[in-house]
Order: sequence, then C-alpha cells, then structure tokens
Amino acid sequence: MQIQYQLTKTPKAKPDPSTLGFGKIFTDHMFLMNYTMGKGWYDARIVPFENLSIHPASTVLHYGSEIFEGLKAYRRADGSVQLFRPIENIRRMNNSAERLCLPQIPEEDLLEVLTAFVRTEQDWTPNAPGTSLYLRPFMFGNDESLGVHTVHNAIFAIIASPVGSYYPEGINPVRIMIEDADVRAVRGGTGYAKCGGNYAASNRAGERAAQKGYSQVLWLDGVERKYIEEVGAMNVMFRIGDEIVTPKLTGSILPGITRKSCIEILQKEGYKVSERLLSVEELSNAMKDGTLKEAWGCGTAAVVSPIGELCYKDHKYIVNGGKIGEITQHLYDTLTGIQWGNLPDTFGWTYKI
Ligand SMILES: *Cc1c(COP(=O)(O)O)cnc(C)c1O
Repeated sequence: MQIQYQLTKTPKAKPDPSTLGFGKIFTDHMFLMNYTMGKGWYDARIVPFENLSIHPASTVLHYGSEIFEGLKAYRRADGSVQLFRPIENIRRMNNSAERLCLPQIPEEDLLEVLTAFVRTEQDWTPNAPGTSLYLRPFMFGNDESLGVHTVHNAIFAIIASPVGSYYPEGINPVRIMIEDADVRAVRGGTGYAKCGGNYAASNRAGERAAQKGYSQVLWLDGVERKYIEEVGAMNVMFRIGDEIVTPKLTGSILPGITRKSCIEILQKEGYKVSERLLSVEELSNAMKDGTLKEAWGCGTAAVVSPIGELCYKDHKYIVNGGKIGEITQHLYDTLTGIQWGNLPDTFGWTYKI
C-alpha cells in the first residue's frame, strides 16, 4: 500500500488525562482512502484531522450505508504501544462490509494502514492508568446520486481519540432493564454487522430505560421476544450455578471480540462455558431461585461491566447483592492485564506497533 503523508504544521497540545472522557477529543491526523468500483481502493493518505466534505446526495446520508469498528491502542509500562487482536476487528469489518454491500479491503492492507496510522498518532496514546487511544475505522457509501443501488463509490477512514478510564471511580455495577417491545436486530438482518443503523434503531429503547433510571437495555430476540441477545452495545454473560452462559451467535448478535476473549480465557481455565439460547424465563427462574450468581456485559470500551440489577416487566432483581462478582472481576483483571502489557500474553493476542 502506498500511503501519502501530509502532516500537520500546527499540532495540538495533548489533553490532561483526567479530562479525557470518551470520544470527545481527536488526534492531529486521520487516515482516508477512496474506492471506486472497477478501480478499487486508491489515494491512501494520512492528512490533518478536519471536516469531511461530501455531496448532499451522498449514499450514506440517505440510505445509511455505513459500518465501523472500535479498538484501542494501549501504552505499556515500557512506553511501547500495542493493539489487542486487531486482526479480529479487520475480519469483522470485512464481514460487515459484505452484509452492507460495501467493498472489501484485503486483511493485510487494512492491518498495514491501521499500523501506519497508529504509528503516526502514537504520541497521543495516554499513559495514565486505564486510559488508551480509541481507534475508530469506518466506511461509508458515497455515490453522488439518489438512485438506490449497490455502492459504486466509498470512503474508508480511521480517526483516533484518546479516552479516559471507563471506571475512574472504581467498577460500579449497572442497572439494566429488559426491553420487551423494541428489538435491536432480527435474524437475516444486520445484527451481526457493526453498522451505524443498528445504533440508530436502538436509541429509543435506550432513552426509555434512561428515563426510568436504568443505564442500558437487555435486548431480546426479534422473533419471539423470548431469548436474551445483548445488553446495550455489549455482549452479555451470566453465571448460573457453575455454568457460564452467553447467547449463541444466531445472526442477530454482534460477535464481540471481548466476548470471544472471555470465552477463551474461561475455557482455558477449565470453566464450563455454554454458547446457547437463554430464555428470559430461564433467567427469571435463576434470579428467583438464587442460581444466578453473576451477570456482566462485555465490550472494548468497558472491558466488562457488571450488572447489579435487572428489571423485567416491573419486577426488580438484585444480582450478587449489587456487587461485582468474582468471575467478572477475574475477567476484568485478566483482560486489562494483557491489554496494557502487565500480564504475560499467553494467547498471543497483542500486536506491537
Ligand atoms: C461493538 C459491539 C459489541 C462489542 O464488541 P467488541 O469487539 O467486544 O468491542 C457488542 N455489541 C454490539 C452491538 C457492538 O456494536
């Protein structure tokens, strides 16, 4: 891949790590490249971060042809910077592209441009505990016409944002409402793809939950409103007795890399992990008879997020006394240990920049 560099002459001051938050501050540069059917990808470039200019009829604005990824660059104690399982994000991005009829990017090219971009911006990787440089690759259809058809022109970009610790005041379990009206995705739809439209469709339930004082919704399947799918924009796991249960990937669930990593860690340590259908009824019974020991969400942003309370049809259940459970804490410690390079990476998951 030939990448053109046009570096800024006016670099910004790096922010104070205590003020970071999530996705509000952006680095000095962005990566861009263009696609035209028949010509392929071209004009790979790293340029100063600025507004994009697109045609008012651009496909993405009308028909929502957009996919994205989310991963982080972590600063190790020795000062070097590393990624966590980037090849998994790259593969998922191509799977999402396939579903949305957006163009593929060869895996090795995507890894090369991602690495080149992170190298350019690596000084922006903060080193305060729990902080990281969040990377947001995204792609959108950019045809300049209102005709509905497969995308002929597209843009691929990567932007980066230094982000604060997700848990500046320690890990606090969240309150979750089980949503039985709106659904996030259906089998045969776009649930397994990381596309912007899934988020647009989720907002209403999220807002209703927030009005009732809940921080996220637990989604049920779109056909029967019976099986547990995900929590907010995270995958979800439960410890019922001595079994760790997570919904199996039926097509309407996003195949999270944190989910996959949790499963691999737990299996290696000899836990019984089941990827299977889990009905809301089975979960309610486990809450009533006390066999539900722990519940947590998992995703790149929060790593793991313990669930302290679940509400279903106005019945409230407290999970593990509203405190983080033992396995949840163990997964958090193991994953963050590997990600920031404080624990040996026996899985070969980290990728040095
Ligand atoms: C990104 C995402 C996840 C988590 O995936 P990770 O690869 O673990 O970050 C889970 N669910 C949804 C809907 C997502 O968009």
